[in-house]
Amino acid sequence: MATFDTQVCIIGAGAAGLWAAAACAERGLQTWVLEKTKRTGTKILSSGGSRCNLTTTLGPKETAKHFGAGHNFILPALRNLTPQAARAHFEAIGVATKTEADFEKVFPVSDSALQVQKAMERHARAMGATFRVNTQVTGISAIPGGWKAEFKDGSVTCQKLLLCVGGQSYPATGTRGDGYPWLRALGLKVVHPVPALVPLSSPIGWVRELSGVSVDAIAKVGKQTRRRPVLFTHKGLSGPGPMDLSEPFARGQAKELLLDLLPDQSWEALREALMDGAQRPGSPRLASLVKLSRRVLETVADLSELGEANPKLNQINKKQRHRLVENLKALRVPINGTLGFTKAEVTAGGLALNQVDRKTMQVHGHPGLYVFGELLDLTGPIGGFNFQAAWSTAQLAAESVAKELK
Ligand SMILES: Cc1cc2nc3c(=O)[nH]c(=O)nc-3n(C[C@H](O)[C@H](O)[C@H](O)COP(=O)(O)OP(=O)(O)OC[C@H]3O[C@@H](n4cnc5c(N)ncnc54)[C@H](O)[C@@H]3O)c2cc1C
Repeated sequence: MATFDTQVCIIGAGAAGLWAAAACAERGLQTWVLEKTKRTGTKILSSGGSRCNLTTTLGPKETAKHFGAGHNFILPALRNLTPQAARAHFEAIGVATKTEADFEKVFPVSDSALQVQKAMERHARAMGATFRVNTQVTGISAIPGGWKAEFKDGSVTCQKLLLCVGGQSYPATGTRGDGYPWLRALGLKVVHPVPALVPLSSPIGWVRELSGVSVDAIAKVGKQTRRRPVLFTHKGLSGPGPMDLSEPFARGQAKELLLDLLPDQSWEALREALMDGAQRPGSPRLASLVKLSRRVLETVADLSELGEANPKLNQINKKQRHRLVENLKALRVPINGTLGFTKAEVTAGGLALNQVDRKTMQVHGHPGLYVFGELLDLTGPIGGFNFQAAWSTAQLAAESVAKELK
């Protein structure tokens, strides 16, 4: 039976836990980290296609805007540790970085998530943090003057308990929603967790038949829009656009995604171009006017009931033209769900943000308990935003803990 006492106990050595471990230890705090899987940073290793999109080049205010309803909550954390400061930190611990044009993403020059995980663990150890892997915490409780965390063959008591066990996505990386029942048992509000940044499933044959085709489109659901690549798959839709917009489908609040397949052309301009083309002598064919891949255009022609895949523009009647414009500018893709937590990059939902002090990450009414990272009800889009949320909230928690303990 292992029992020990420490100033700071961090549960979860993922992105947020590794960052917090170094930041606490660096401030002279006795820091223990308990991790369920056999190594630290398990999810970091799978991130960004194992290249790890560390952060974004955007400033704190712009970054915050990408967190939707969570933007006000995360702003102080992002101002305290900006994406630029996080990037500088990685450079300082030996991870040279580069920017990729697509959505202002920052990656390690090495394209190696393993390098990131190794550098973070090495740095935290060098600062004095102690890690105990293969240690699944089974429960937490308040004790006089602090907190207790229990695991199979022992327990830790501490003055400050930092909870960053992540969400429920990619369960193979250790995250199975362990933190939610602990928080609920303390009487705290947990927003129902659902998979997010996840591919969408469609029951419709034509969607699946386009499997492998990628389009530059504006995807739209409700008031949310994204102009990012859309990939048709044998199960439905994937790629950054649909994945960014997946939460309403996971919550059962939406049933179709609209795709604007010609984002650089207005509805009116498209209508006029189709009509003008029909007037021209020897009328051109549809494919010469609409620059889409053959497979996509054939599908749109079929859905618009044009009678053939690539008709001459003067063969298209008014009703058909109306359907064609609708399908090119707002193609309705029926969606019947997502591929679930196993394929979700993050979990939407988690500890309600009004339960936490956004300037310290301390949980209201539970002194000494800090929650940060993906366990919070905070989700950003694809592009390094979720790691940045982990780094910034972890840094704020560590700084607040250090202030209180000194
Ligand atoms: C495939 C994939 C690719 C991604 N790519 C990117 C990317 O490129 N850029 C980006 O910004 N974001 C990316 N993300 C999201 C990002 O990985 C997460 O948002 C981030 O890791 C959250 O950090 P966290 O520390 O809160 O949680 P995690 O990193 O998930 O860490 C939580 C840790 O807690 C441990 N734990 C859980 N329960 C217990 C317990 N009971 N006892 C002890 N330990 C426990 C887990 O094993 C885990 O190690 C990706 C996610 C996935 C799944």
